[in-house]
Order: sequence, then structure tokens, then C-alpha cells
Amino acid sequence: MRATVMYGAGDVRVKTVPDARLIERTDALVTVTRACICGSDLWPYNQMEHTETGQRMGHEFIGIVDAVGSDVRTVKVGDLVVAPFAWSDGTCVFCQEGLHTSCLHGGWWARDGIDGGQGEAVRVPQADGTLVILPVGKDDALMPSLLTLSDVMGTGHHAALAARVGPGKTVAVVGDGAVGLCGVIAAKRLGAEQIIILGRHPDRIALAKEFGATDVVSERGDDAVERVRELTNGFGAHSVLECVGHGQATVTALSIARPGGAVGRVGLPQQESIPTKLTSFFDNVTIGGGPAPARAYIEELLPDVLEGRIEPGRVFDRVTNLDGVPDGYRAMNEREAIKVLIEF
Ligand SMILES: [Zn+2]
Repeated sequence: MRATVMYGAGDVRVKTVPDARLIERTDALVTVTRACICGSDLWPYNQMEHTETGQRMGHEFIGIVDAVGSDVRTVKVGDLVVAPFAWSDGTCVFCQEGLHTSCLHGGWWARDGIDGGQGEAVRVPQADGTLVILPVGKDDALMPSLLTLSDVMGTGHHAALAARVGPGKTVAVVGDGAVGLCGVIAAKRLGAEQIIILGRHPDRIALAKEFGATDVVSERGDDAVERVRELTNGFGAHSVLECVGHGQATVTALSIARPGGAVGRVGLPQQESIPTKLTSFFDNVTIGGGPAPARAYIEELLPDVLEGRIEPGRVFDRVTNLDGVPDGYRAMNEREAIKVLIEF
């Protein structure tokens, strides 16, 4: 089969790799019908050291179940399924608490011998716990929005929950990438009154407004902090969604939280420590977040997608096939595209 392999910064290739196949009795074999490129894939795209063996890529996909192991009960051959960006058993203590990313028997796609989503097929470990059946046809018009349940919509929702978004709250979203845009959707869905998006790409800002952003801050650094304060009676935001991950964005997020407010961090951190703001201590600002347990949120968000109340699939502004994946990375890296959808 063919799959995406990254060999180093800027070096993404579509290669022939060993066919995915069942190994464990709890596995399912899934033929991928839709996948996509993630903003977090751009970190290795910019920084990865060259390797001879390369690294499989992709952690968001929808596909059709082709075969199941003898212990699999919840999915069957022919089902259309979505996979969250981490696989999990669904039964351990952390899964029962809704934190599937800390599953005791789970893991991540595209590493440790597990297939990546940006390929023709995937062996899915812990299929019963991992996969969710989609009650639509494989080419349904909702496919882009359903695919965001793998990661970006669940991640935006997680940021909103960690930032304690609720009815009447003032929310600031740091970052106008696909996760930030989904954070706007999540904040609106949870009843936020004011939603300030911090970003500077005109196309993304326009989409953020359609998703429910009420104010736009395109300044950076101290000027951005100043502007958010102006928009919030000098107090700052109750809830801040940090959807970027680098240090400056984290500093900005902590600086615009209102006393007693909360910051939800979902941008993959690019440094070991949280850049401190002493004010966040004296202001009793809660700092939360981490990788979203996307699996926990699929059932909650799926009805809103199926019934058209939210349209997170609009973050996809380019569609390609498997051969076009290397150029998709380039386009996202150069900010030509927000998020690239891969059709098989
Ligand atoms: Zn578990």
C-alpha cells in the first residue's frame, strides 16, 4: 500500500510501505477514505532531523472497516468509522474518566509500528474503544466536518472546556489556525457572549466571524494585550483558548486572562516550561489543557455536525489526493491553505 512518510524537514514523500494487516485480536483493518494534514504536522516539517527510515504521518482519518479481529464487537466489516487522534481501549480507569489520551493500553498513530492516517489503510489497535461508526455514506457532504471530529473540532472543544467557557462569558481565542477557528465554534456553542479572535490572516478572520467571533485583534505582543483589555472593560477575558503552542502565544494568553479566569492550552507546546507571567499567580488564573481526549467528545459533537448546527469542516480550504500530500504540506506551511483534506 502507499502512505505518507516524512524523512526530514521539508521532505515528505508518498511511498510504498508494508500492507496494513490484522495482528491482534482486538484490531480492525480500515481502508482510509478521508484524511488530512494537521498544523502539528508542520512542526516536524520545519524541524525534523533527516532520517533514512523516515516517519509515517497522519493522525486524522475516516475509513471503511475491511476486517476485524476475533475479539472486536462494536464495529463490523463495511462500517464507515472515524478515528480520534489517539487510540484507546475505552475501558481502563482513564478512559472511564473521559481522558482517553492517557489510556493505559492506548497510543498514537504513525509511531511505534502503528500506521499513520495519511495512507491507504490503517491497522487500528483497540478497535472497540477507538472507532466510532458514522451513520452516513462514505461520500456524504458532511465528510469534512465529520473528519474534524478526529482532532481539530475536539481540540477546540477541549480548549473551551479547559478555559471554562460558559453562557455569558467573555472568551479570547489566541490563534486563527484550524484549531483556533474550531475554538470559536466551541465557544459559541457553549454560550459565550463575546468571542475575541487574535489573528491576522484575513481569510481566517473572515471565517472566524462567520463562526461567531464578535471582535478581532490583529496586533501582536503587548499591543494585543492592550487591545483585548480595551475590549473587556480593562479586565481581560474570563476564558482564554491558547491554540498555537509557541512561547509568545502562551505569554499573550496568560496576559489577557481576567483575574479568576482560566487559560485552556491545546497548542502543542514548543518548549518544556510554561512561560511564566507573575500576574497569573496574583490574579488566580487557572492554567489547564493538554491533548484533547477527542474520543470522549465524538458522541457529544457528532449530533451537532449531523444536524448542521456546527460546520467545522469549513476549515478545510483545499482538497488533494494522496499524491498531492507533499504539496499540501508546503501549502499549509506557507499559509496558502488553512487545512488540507485528502480524498482517497
Ligand atoms: Zn483506556
